[in-house]
Amino acid sequence: MEQCIFCKMVNNEIPVHKIYESENVIAFNDINPQAPVHCLIIPKKHIVSADFLKEEDSHILIEVFKAIKTIAKERNLSENGYRIVTNHGERAGQSVFHLHFHLLGGRNMKWPPG
Ligand code: AMP
Ligand code: ZN
Repeated sequence: MEQCIFCKMVNNEIPVHKIYESENVIAFNDINPQAPVHCLIIPKKHIVSADFLKEEDSHILIEVFKAIKTIAKERNLSENGYRIVTNHGERAGQSVFHLHFHLLGGRNMKWPPG
């Protein structure tokens, strides 16, 4: 069994305040928020990053985006906009090697990201 930090959160081995949960997905607030709203949406299944997704994981991605839409609505982001980010590899800034989607909102975003 995988023992990465996000797997431990999925398995309740590390306390986590879940802001959303469905069959294959959980979401929680980022510990180091970069915006007024900064949540992480993760599959319960250990997938290293987007680059490791397989065809058979497609139902998980549908749930991820359902979670994002639900949380965005709850946090009043739907009207004003939000950003979804997922990093693959250290060069992109990935520090936790369990697929996660950052949901950022509540402030103006710059482009391109650094
Ligand atoms: P990334 O750098 O794209 O891999 O994103 C990893 C994110 O996980 C960072 O934004 C961290 O702040 C966040 N993070 C790491 N550990 C925890 C934790 N225990 N609870 C919540 N967020 C965390
Ligand atoms: Zn994991």
